Amino acid sequence: MKRWVYFYGNGKSEGGNDKALLGGKGAGLSEMTSLGLPVPPGFIISTEACREYYSTGKFPDGLEDQVRAAMAEVEAAVGSRFGDPKSPLLVSVRSGGRVSMPGMMDTVLNLGLNAKTVEGLAAGTKNDRFAYDSYRRFVTMFGDVVLGLKAEGALEKDAFVEALENKKKKRGLRNDSELSAEELRELTAELQGIVLAKTKQAFPEDPWAQLFAAISAVFRSWNNTRAENYRRLNNIPAEWGTAVSVCTMVFGNMGEDSCTGVAFTRDPNTGEKRFFGEYLVNAQGEDVVAGIRTPDPINTSGGAAGTATLQGRMPGVYGQLDEVRHKLEKHYRDMQDIEFTVERGKLWILQCRNGKRSAPAAVRIAVEMVKEGIIDDRLAVTRVTPEQLDQLLHPAIDPNAKATVIAKGLPASPGAATGKIVLTADDAEARAKKGEAVILVRTETSPEDVHGMHFAKGVLTSRGGMTSHAAVVARGMGRPCVVGAGELSVDLRKRVVIARGQTYQEGDVITIDGSSGKVMLGAVPTIEAAGSADYQELMGWADKHRRLKVRANADTKTDAETARRFGAEGIGLCRTEHMFFDPTRILAVREMIVAADEAGRRAALAKILPMQRGDFEALFTAMAGLPVTIRLLDPPLHEFLPTEDRDIAAVAKELGVEPEVVRKRVVALHEQNPMLGLRGCRLGLVHPEIYEMQVQAIAEAALAVRAKGVDAHPEIMIPLVGTPEELARTRASATAVVAKVTGKGDTFSIGTMIEVPRAALLADRVAQHADFFSFGTNDLTQMTFGLSRDDSGSFLPLYVERGILKDEPFTVLDEDGVGQLVKLAVERGRTTKPGLKIGICGEHGGEPRSIDFCHRVGLDYVSCSPYRVPVARLAAAHAAIKRG
Ligand code: ADP
Ligand code: MG
Ligand code: MG
Repeated sequence: MKRWVYFYGNGKSEGGNDKALLGGKGAGLSEMTSLGLPVPPGFIISTEACREYYSTGKFPDGLEDQVRAAMAEVEAAVGSRFGDPKSPLLVSVRSGGRVSMPGMMDTVLNLGLNAKTVEGLAAGTKNDRFAYDSYRRFVTMFGDVVLGLKAEGALEKDAFVEALENKKKKRGLRNDSELSAEELRELTAELQGIVLAKTKQAFPEDPWAQLFAAISAVFRSWNNTRAENYRRLNNIPAEWGTAVSVCTMVFGNMGEDSCTGVAFTRDPNTGEKRFFGEYLVNAQGEDVVAGIRTPDPINTSGGAAGTATLQGRMPGVYGQLDEVRHKLEKHYRDMQDIEFTVERGKLWILQCRNGKRSAPAAVRIAVEMVKEGIIDDRLAVTRVTPEQLDQLLHPAIDPNAKATVIAKGLPASPGAATGKIVLTADDAEARAKKGEAVILVRTETSPEDVHGMHFAKGVLTSRGGMTSHAAVVARGMGRPCVVGAGELSVDLRKRVVIARGQTYQEGDVITIDGSSGKVMLGAVPTIEAAGSADYQELMGWADKHRRLKVRANADTKTDAETARRFGAEGIGLCRTEHMFFDPTRILAVREMIVAADEAGRRAALAKILPMQRGDFEALFTAMAGLPVTIRLLDPPLHEFLPTEDRDIAAVAKELGVEPEVVRKRVVALHEQNPMLGLRGCRLGLVHPEIYEMQVQAIAEAALAVRAKGVDAHPEIMIPLVGTPEELARTRASATAVVAKVTGKGDTFSIGTMIEVPRAALLADRVAQHADFFSFGTNDLTQMTFGLSRDDSGSFLPLYVERGILKDEPFTVLDEDGVGQLVKLAVERGRTTKPGLKIGICGEHGGEPRSIDFCHRVGLDYVSCSPYRVPVARLAAAHAAIKRG
């Protein structure tokens, strides 16, 4: 007969520490019992039984007998019997999967009470009030969670809560604990009346019927909608199932010498090594969780008054709890979260698990545990998640601040920012230059807004998703950003912002929180990010263990310097077109585009050349000693075209032609689908003079800074290659320019983006002309899926919500599809050139799960925005430690 049930008690446990089998809670109870801690005896029904229940729709054969046998063992251990009218054994029934999961069934306490056993409990403890308090709690919990009577949502009245409130109102009482034994008895009868009315069935009296009903309710709760949603969002497989723990009740509600509480072995907010916790006298565990009463601190280490603490009230018990604290931390080698209950001066431990902690606490605890010799530096690195690091590096809203939320959108770029509302990029720049802090609020942003975003403290848009222009650019700049705040609209004509029916003027101060998506009125206090000594230490360990190099996507000297400060090992992508948008250059760029012939283009390019050279000199200097990958001009030219009359006139004047001529050129250059049109290397092949100018600028800049002793490592990257021939030709002309400039056959590393699926498929042949590959996974995703990044906002979120796609493919690299192309290109590329250097420079280069993939397929480096560099370093270390 298969074993479904595992007993623990009196220092022995049958199930060991197997979380997959016993669930996290069950494994903890079982393990703590083996460690000799005071855990009330009980038994665990395995996750296997749950899975069986799901496949057959009933309890597996043998389960009920095993439950009865285990209960007999518990009875022997505690010396009372389940259902015994004189001295009844009561139990709690608790759910718990492998990982803790809100949305699962709530715990039922005091199970086993009925009209007879409650009398026995009262007589045995000589405490009527306690007995009926326990009884009314049981009926409420059983009714709520097993019989499904809990009111859902704010509109529905909860009949149980109402009955309790009415009872208190009768005598004008404030607190549940002031109700008398008699009142509690009446209340219980009323609650049972509600059950009868609502379910048309009497409240079950038989303790065994109660127990089995509770067990199957736990099993069923694994598949309720709340639990399913949570699993989907957190990638928890539905097959895991939940275990059920049945534990002997211990009572914190027996009077003033009893209490219940929760403690952390270290401070979960700061990470400080001090015992931290809260407790409530004369209460059961659910009171603490539900926040019905405000608990007191367990000790004075946080500066609390002495008398109300557990330490002050029950020094002996506190001492025992402190011992438990040390034992558990030593055993689990991590900060623990402990549930305890004291029944008439006797301490019981009811749960332990790895404690949740803030980002700064995670770092501090990990580092201090290494110094204390509890863990090694590899383990320490895995104790901090990339998301936590991300939080740590941006100023955050002060969690204690009061704020009025005026709208909500998507949290696109973390951190908090406060400033005056401005509605155009030019205003943002003008006001910022006067020293004002501004938030740029737009319906959506485009490349022409970039300078405004640069000058703004934060960016807010009413449209767009997590990979919209605003989101990507703001993240790259490290600007806090909220996008897609649909409740908000920008009226550029009236120059106001409207949100939830309220109108806000330009100049009104708002705060955005790019970590939560909230938009708040006024200046909300923030706390500064601190790169503490602990943080530095941890990152040092991460660097020691990772194999992937981490570079940054950076277009300016400032970006490059920031990236370097954050630990970047080079630039993986410099987008030269960003240099073209600069207001001082855009005119010359437009001249070049609308020029009628090559001579006209060359004349305009000659104006741009010295500017580009200057840019590259600054970049090489900032990245001295490290590689700098420069991508030749990539985007469709229409992005630079003048549209406003004013701009058209300016270009016309510069070219010495009528505005009409320029306007005609603009029309002629129109493309139906510019993202698949004349861009990337196609542009370089059709108008070779553009790339020639850029390569010349790169080569001259390299020579110029080298002459000053700067160790420059340029790498030239050709975008949008789809055929080997495109690369062969572009490369040949670039090599010629380099040779001409340097005069001594000097060669630069020349490689290509892999972003067109065809290039991935032909990677062996493409590699013949490439010194390196860099996966441009934004375009590669776009073209592999056949969906436009700029237009997918209307359906992609829905796809993810409905589970058609598991993740947003522009956020998390699609391993199944796009990833196959990446893998194949790596393999084929290295068949031609075994040592071929390969990286990734799409948005995915800063996303932890995608970084893990990059590690597994053997890339050499990832490249991401400067502010993501630490996150990428940590994620790369995690990948190396976990995958080997
Ligand atoms: P959750 O996962 O929501 O914490 P638990 O099963 O841990 O659910 O229980 C909820 C509360 O009831 C906790 O405070 C816990 O300590 C308390 N509790 C659970 N079982 C018992 C028991 N056998 N005796 C006393 N209190 C208990
Ligand atoms: Mg708990
Ligand atoms: Mg691209």
